[in-house]
Amino acid sequence: RKGATIIDGKAFAATVRSKVADHVTRLKDDHGITPGLAVVLVGEDPASQVYVRSKGKMTVEVGMNSIEHKLDVDTSEADLLALIADLNADPAIHGILVQLPLPKHLNEDLVINSIDPAKDVDGFHISNVGLLGTGQKSMVPCTPLGCLMMLRDHHGSLSGLNAVVVGRSNIVGKPMAQLLLGDSCTVTIAHSRTKDIQDVTRRADIVVAAVGRSEMVTGDWIKPGATVIDVGINRIDAPEKGEGKTRLVGDCDFDSCAEVAGAITPVPGGVGPMTIACLLANTVTACCRANGLQEPE
Ligand code: NDP
Repeated sequence: RKGATIIDGKAFAATVRSKVADHVTRLKDDHGITPGLAVVLVGEDPASQVYVRSKGKMTVEVGMNSIEHKLDVDTSEADLLALIADLNADPAIHGILVQLPLPKHLNEDLVINSIDPAKDVDGFHISNVGLLGTGQKSMVPCTPLGCLMMLRDHHGSLSGLNAVVVGRSNIVGKPMAQLLLGDSCTVTIAHSRTKDIQDVTRRADIVVAAVGRSEMVTGDWIKPGATVIDVGINRIDAPEKGEGKTRLVGDCDFDSCAEVAGAITPVPGGVGPMTIACLLANTVTACCRANGLQEPE
């Protein structure tokens, strides 16, 4: 069988952003409040610089304030924690995002857990992780939230479906598994020690690949008709485009997976744009909660 439905994350993200923009307009017009998102970047990692730039641009496009703090690569932990304390105390800042990965001399857990959980729009603070795990109101990590929205949109109810998440990171794999469990999927988490991983994924109605290995998941891993969500963003050499050129690929081999799957997200244009849209949505949610106002659905 050929011809999986291509889940258009780019278009979906545009509709999410336009709802966010409407909400921002209402916050301004009815309450005189403009949501503010602070993004902290330490060092000059090229991929992180690209993400931070595009987050800032989208934040402004939906009418919110974007505050960027670019710190030197050898910034001390004390200075970074002092900045976060200032942002925590600033009533004009509703969301705080510290771009990961941090330089090695900084303790990532310590830094993330110093963010006020109510402003932790990435949802990485241990309080938010615990709230999500126990089904309580929290800030939900943006990438898995975007994946869940696309899955709900495509399937309607996810109840009873077999979902396999490949990858067990704190930022994607684990929260993804929690969200799918919350939607009553039967969830399996596979990782680098999983035996016969293709047999595991071949039983899945939904495969979410968050591995960080270019095109690792191939069509023979996929049950016919299954939905494939490709979280991976990997830059590989593309000599066909010219010398020194590169291109982005996912963790799934798109062509072979698309021949077998019922639906699949492309890279780029799938999970990536949804992640940023969810970040903006989380910032509006945080702003509404901080001001005791009704939050967007
Ligand atoms: P991590 O490196 O933190 O985690 C990767 C996971 O994949 C680990 O749990 C690891 O297992 C598992 N893994 C590695 N190799 C294999 C293998 N051969 N077979 C099975 N499992 C394996 O990555 P992240 O979760 O942070 O990111 C994953 C991907 O998603 C990356 O490509 C990243 O760029 C992308 N990403 C995309 C985002 C977006 O907005 N679209 C946002 C965040 C990430 P183990 O634990 O056993 O080592």
